[in-house]
Amino acid sequence: MLMDAARRPLRPADAPPPEPGSGQLLIAVRACGVCRTDLHVRDGELSHPKLPLILGHEIVGTVVAMGAGPEIDRFGIGDRVGVPWLGWSCGECRYCRSGRENLCDRARFTGYQIDGGYAEYAVADARFCFPLPDQYADLEAAPLLCAGLIGYRALVAAGEAERLGLYGFGAAAHIVAQVARHQRRRVFAFTRAGDEEAQHFALELGADWAGASDAPPPEPLDAAIIFAPVGPLVPRALRAVVKGGTVVCAGIHMSDIPAFPYDILWGERVIRSVANLTRKDAAEFLGLAPQLPVRTMVEPYPLERANEALEKLRAGKVRGAAVLQITAAATPPRDSR
Ligand SMILES: [Zn+2]
Ligand SMILES: [Zn+2]
Repeated sequence: MLMDAARRPLRPADAPPPEPGSGQLLIAVRACGVCRTDLHVRDGELSHPKLPLILGHEIVGTVVAMGAGPEIDRFGIGDRVGVPWLGWSCGECRYCRSGRENLCDRARFTGYQIDGGYAEYAVADARFCFPLPDQYADLEAAPLLCAGLIGYRALVAAGEAERLGLYGFGAAAHIVAQVARHQRRRVFAFTRAGDEEAQHFALELGADWAGASDAPPPEPLDAAIIFAPVGPLVPRALRAVVKGGTVVCAGIHMSDIPAFPYDILWGERVIRSVANLTRKDAAEFLGLAPQLPVRTMVEPYPLERANEALEKLRAGKVRGAAVLQITAAATPPRDSR
């Protein structure tokens, strides 16, 4: 499914499978998660995508061919791998050398500057691919790769908060809520006003309370994570957290944050963002998820219905995570190496 230009629907297209270059894997895609970031790219809110572009950065698939190169032998033909948003970083800059490759100025991202997983085949740099825990089926593993691990990075950034607010209860929050409960935190879920289904879903996943994001929580919070791309939630979350509390903005794009009085920030409250992921985040979270275990709720869509999945995501109508199920690619037998 090809994006020719911003603000236009994706269109089905036929192309030969890409060739794996040096250090790359050719992957037969089995599933690809649909993320809010994909919608930001398609809507032109993230500038200068590769065009034409294949979206998708929660790729689950099988290695069918390999180039030569560094670290390529971590994988073999037939292995199941996951491909996340961070597709490449320079390894040389101050950020990369200090464990912050997520901030690399030259970083390239899957489904943005590199073709992604809304397709039967994808190529990916082996150094940025991950083995996936066996107990997850392909569809269920896909949301771990962005919703899960960027959600996890946001949870770590929230600090040791006992009372945690989650603004926007979509794919990321439904995973973070489970990890937070496991860490004996209390979860307060904020949804669009009147979205009783999402509120009910949050309570099923162990939230202490669920309500509308335009109302205050029943008690003060120690930290909040904002997953919804809605700037006015920032002052609301600041008003909801106690002194010393942190508000984490976890999305890649947000509408403008309205002006607010200094006294809601004062008292050592902190506003911060979380950007992208490091390979360390991925290794940590993919190790942790099967231990709880985190369960992912998915709504499968065939590849050809990617536009519909994106529109449902925009409307807030997806319960858990939307995932494209991609079945057309032929997978060679495991011993064909
Ligand atoms: Zn994402
Ligand atoms: Zn770098």
